Amino acid sequence: MKLKIKNTFTKHLPADPITDTKRREVARACFSYVNPKLPLQPKLIHASDDVAKLLGIAKEELQTKAFLNIVTGTALIDNTRPYAMCYGGHQFGHWAGQLGDGRAINLAEIEYNMQRWALQLKGAGETPYSRTADGLAVLRSSIREHLCSEAMHYLGVPTTRSLSLALSGNKVLRDVLYNGNANYEKGAIVCRVAASFIRFGNFEIFASRQDVKTLKALTDYTINEHYPNIITNTKFGYLEFFKTVAENTLNMIINWQRVGFVHGVMNTDNMSILGLTIDYGPYGWLEAYDVNWTPNTTDNQFKRYRYGNQPKIALWNLLQLANALYPLIEDAEALEQILHDFNIDYKSKYLDMMRSKLGLQDKNESDAELVTTLEKVLQLTETDMTIFFRNLANISKTRIIDDEAFLDAIKDAFYKPQHVTGTILKQWQNWFLLYTNRLKKEALPDAERKRKMNAVNPKYILRNYIAQLIINDADKGNYTLLNKIHTLLKNPYNEQEEHQEWFVKRPEWARNKVGCSMLSCSS
Ligand code: AMP
Ligand code: MG
Repeated sequence: MKLKIKNTFTKHLPADPITDTKRREVARACFSYVNPKLPLQPKLIHASDDVAKLLGIAKEELQTKAFLNIVTGTALIDNTRPYAMCYGGHQFGHWAGQLGDGRAINLAEIEYNMQRWALQLKGAGETPYSRTADGLAVLRSSIREHLCSEAMHYLGVPTTRSLSLALSGNKVLRDVLYNGNANYEKGAIVCRVAASFIRFGNFEIFASRQDVKTLKALTDYTINEHYPNIITNTKFGYLEFFKTVAENTLNMIINWQRVGFVHGVMNTDNMSILGLTIDYGPYGWLEAYDVNWTPNTTDNQFKRYRYGNQPKIALWNLLQLANALYPLIEDAEALEQILHDFNIDYKSKYLDMMRSKLGLQDKNESDAELVTTLEKVLQLTETDMTIFFRNLANISKTRIIDDEAFLDAIKDAFYKPQHVTGTILKQWQNWFLLYTNRLKKEALPDAERKRKMNAVNPKYILRNYIAQLIINDADKGNYTLLNKIHTLLKNPYNEQEEHQEWFVKRPEWARNKVGCSMLSCSS
């Protein structure tokens, strides 16, 4: 395997002089050198050939021992020195101090086709940032990260990628529900790939320590390497940097809302400075459309990270980043203006995104009301978000909304169709009247509208229960379903008739099942 190494992070930024993994506060350094733990019996489960292609790794190489060795930390890439990054973060609204790569180890940055990629192992052992934990990851959470990051990519959502999923051969002790029932599980390692894994928390840690020198070095580095159109070293440039990060974050959130993705732990240490979806933990996908839903049982009291709150939390996180960058900008008003604009832009971009989901090309003043009414009606009785929007494309704009049959096109989306009577039915009828009247104002014929709607409303997503079925099989050493779903999710907007069985509502058995609708941070 021939990779072109181009380490810039370690070259340009200060290193921790200590090289053991003893847990400690790491001051005035952006990273600590650390070696992955030797896995007991590494075994490749799956590799993403599309990600390999980005790195210049040929398909045939994915099955080699050399590849396995690198993606499990068994061997290092020639002439490289792995490292863990130092960062802090606000967790669930509170400053948590130093966190850092506790179980992520960066192997190297490489360059291919004029693009830079950082390779990072997740679950490859302890670092100085592992705090009280072991630096390892279990199979179930690694499957979820590997599959979801790829699914998100093919959905067109900015995300980190996943090159590979492997068993380490080590046993890992986890208490899934934090209720005193710890068990040994199979350990696994994912090799993640992104242009950079820098988070908001990387900036916050230096600001919190009044270490403006390192803060400036990191910011200059990030701008030079990842936002090259911005001129660094000026207050104006730093402000421009913050504005661009806010725009990228906004774009990411709009895409999450579009596909019904709930991240679950939007702490500032889980916010990418490039606006990528990062750190797939207790995430989930909306089944029934419900703005109050979160899959994360660790967050079930306040539901801070619920679906409908994601835009607000992104803004709150950007405020923390603004505070961190303040010493370089010293212009509170200008920073506040950018945060204010985020709110305004979010509203208009969200409306545009919803227009696209509804198949509306033109802008009409009544559209905001059409969307808010729909959001209300969708929550009257459990209605599957994915099935609803996908099937909505089958409504003709000339459809007369006078009898119950008008619901035929979308009735598969109802979890309890027997509830759709009386006032609920009436409200649906009113909405469809608004919708079909609105469609009549559009020039686009039905077929053309359907084509456009199908390009933004996915047919196939990594439903929470599908991930769990894959995990159940994989635990027994059967990866057939994993392979099949990985391939299916490469074309989430295509009909794929042979995979129709995965275009269904969540089965009843998965309603309150751990791993499906209930996930904790234990991973
Ligand atoms: P998360 O909630 O997964 O984003 O993790 C928050 C912090 O805890 C990060 O600094 C992680 O690196 C660290 N962490 C999570 N799980 C582990 C683990 N098993 N071993 C070491 N550190 C961990
Ligand atoms: Mg994290």
